[in-house]
This record gives sequence, structure tokens and C-alpha cells, in this order.
Amino acid sequence: MNLPTDIREEAGDLFDLHRWHMRKALQLARKAAAADEVPVGAVIVRGTSVIAQAYNQVELLKDPTAHAEMIAITQAANAVGDWRLTDCVLYVTKEPCPMCAGAIVLARLPVVVWGMSDPQRGGAISHFRILQDEQLNHQVDCVTGVLEAECREVMQEFFRRKRDAAHKRRVAEELDAERPADDQAN
Ligand SMILES: [Zn+2]
Repeated sequence: MNLPTDIREEAGDLFDLHRWHMRKALQLARKAAAADEVPVGAVIVRGTSVIAQAYNQVELLKDPTAHAEMIAITQAANAVGDWRLTDCVLYVTKEPCPMCAGAIVLARLPVVVWGMSDPQRGGAISHFRILQDEQLNHQVDCVTGVLEAECREVMQEFFRRKRDAAHKRRVAEELDAERPADDQAN
């Protein structure tokens, strides 16, 4: 009997499955970035079916609660026809914030898988530990670091672009302010 190898192989298969769904979440995060939204993508899977796909739409909907996870949870509950998502798995590119972690607990999701952790504001386990708080009536298994480098790159690239744009705006404004009055009249 070679149990350790079996377990490793099984874990390998599971990780491939996680990567497969995380790739979809990453595509959604890239869509968010293209729409000038903070790039977070989320997918909810039930058995072999993807029942929800969403990305952050806070700017578009002008709604501070329109995070990828929140939209995906609503979609999944509609698909299942129940608010309890007890046989579903949520994949998201970044560790959920405290709001989304609260919604994950309320939805009774058993497992959440994410790419990059957020040590400063993470609501799941990194900073606030909402997904594993014994005082709440539901704890969630967390799988972290799936396609972490890609998830981080999408986020860093987005904020790099934002900073560059802000810098260019400032330089343009300064140049404008320095132009002689005569020149400005022309
Ligand atoms: Zn959130």
C-alpha cells in the first residue's frame, strides 16, 4: 500500500481543478481591469457546473457592495433556488474582504479558494478571520495561493496603470500652470 503517493496524486488532481476554475476567475478579473474596475473575478462551482461568474462592478453600478463575490453569490443562489450554497465552492482571485467573508458565512459555503492573500485588509483569514471564527455558526475551509502570481500580477498591473495615469495628469497640469499667459491665450 502506498498511501502517501495516492494522497499526493489526489491532491494534485484537486489542485488542477482549482487552477482550472481560478483561470476562469482570472479572465473575469481581467475583464474588470479593462472596465477600469479593481480587478477581482469570482466563480462559483456546484459539482461540475459553473453556476456563477462575476467581476467587481463597484464603479459601473456605483454600488460599494458590488464586489465579485457578492454578485456571484446572488447568481449562485438564484441558480440553486436556495440561499444555502452548502454544496458549492467559491473561487476568487483575491482573499475576500470582511463584507464578502460575512456573505460567504451567511451563504454557508463550505470551501473558498483564492489566489492572492491580503495581509492588510483580508477578511477571510489573513487579517480579520471571519471565515474561521469559532463565534460564528459556520466555518469555511480555505485554500490559498492558487495561481497566486497571476492573480497578483493582474492587481499590480492595474494599480501601476492607475498611478502612471495620475502622474501624467499631474505633469500635464503643472505644465499648463507654468505656461505664460500669452501662450495660454493662443
Ligand atoms: Zn469584498
